[in-house]
Amino acid sequence: MDLIKRLEFKEKLRNKLENELSPESIERARKDPHARRYPRPCGMTIHTGIGCAYSCTYCYIYNMGFPHKAQPYPLSGKELLYALTLNPYVVLGPGGTMFAMGSVTEPFLPETRDRALEYIEVLGSLGNPLQVSSKSVLNDEYITKIKEYAPHISFLETVVCIRDCRKIEPLAPDPMNRLEFMGRLVKAGINVGLFMRPIIPGITDRDAKEILELAREVGVKTVVLGTLRITKNIYTRLRSIGINLDDRLPTSRLGREQVPIRARDLKDWIAGKAREMGFRVYEAACGANIEAAGLGCWACRWGPCGDLSKLPNVDARDVNEFLKYLGYSGSVEQLGDRRIVVRLDSGDGRRVEALLRELLRREVIIKGRSRPHCASTSACGDYD
Ligand code: SF4
Repeated sequence: MDLIKRLEFKEKLRNKLENELSPESIERARKDPHARRYPRPCGMTIHTGIGCAYSCTYCYIYNMGFPHKAQPYPLSGKELLYALTLNPYVVLGPGGTMFAMGSVTEPFLPETRDRALEYIEVLGSLGNPLQVSSKSVLNDEYITKIKEYAPHISFLETVVCIRDCRKIEPLAPDPMNRLEFMGRLVKAGINVGLFMRPIIPGITDRDAKEILELAREVGVKTVVLGTLRITKNIYTRLRSIGINLDDRLPTSRLGREQVPIRARDLKDWIAGKAREMGFRVYEAACGANIEAAGLGCWACRWGPCGDLSKLPNVDARDVNEFLKYLGYSGSVEQLGDRRIVVRLDSGDGRRVEALLRELLRREVIIKGRSRPHCASTSACGDYD
């Protein structure tokens, strides 16, 4: 694998876009967080809108200051692409950084769906692993466009309850309609996963078998599970609709910080049922993204995910040349299927960590004078 070529591609794309975009567009993209945000091990979140009208009781975005009304993200597709070419931690092109839409807003609200589609078109053309998570129901015209723009997209549709859903997700589409929609996505040849996140104690475990059966009937084969994360506010909102989490609290003092509840037993139980029924089960959304992209990954403790025979092949000399190309001084100490250890004497350790993790899909350990102060050790926010 030619690591240097990957960065040269990004530079060429940046130059091309600089010739096409207006000075105002360039300025807007430069100032945008997509131009500098550090990707998590599970990938880079792409924001398609600001705010969300669905008002789900368990949702964390309202605590983060996002409004209950949505508006499209201010960057055009090309501006977003340009912002990503400026981001020093991102690898563009097939097998590059995993992208995920839907973490701080529903991507397909009526106000934001055209923007989401525009982003799918530009990101789909790059070939990076691309994932979207949603609770919406789209018509066949949108489905056709999604398939056309990003044939290997991982589409996660959330269903966490069947009964009492109106209390929990008051303004999101009916879960039965979401399941029907999943069937249409499957028929269109899109990689669909059932997203059971967050697992709400007493609700999701009660309805899990029925949800899994319905998903299997429409042809879904992948399930992604995720634990509920709460703040004091979320705890209070859930309590007000009769969901008492007192015996699952991870700490006696809840505040503004999101913490996962203790629900390992529920997650294991649902995972067991899903496996019995023939589903592939992932504990992190990026596992489904890797699978849909036809890649393999062993970058964290949740792995291995996808097809391990597709783990990128590279030798230590290539990595050493890559470090030199970046202008850094360092060398590989150890390189195996699971892990790469690099001694870095000068340069940006966080950057090396992110780029190598995305290019090599292994755990990256940086030692030496330039090691990052805060290395990433896990994926995807589910630490239960
Ligand atoms: S090993 Fe799996 S869970 Fe971990 S970062 Fe890779 S795809 Fe995600």
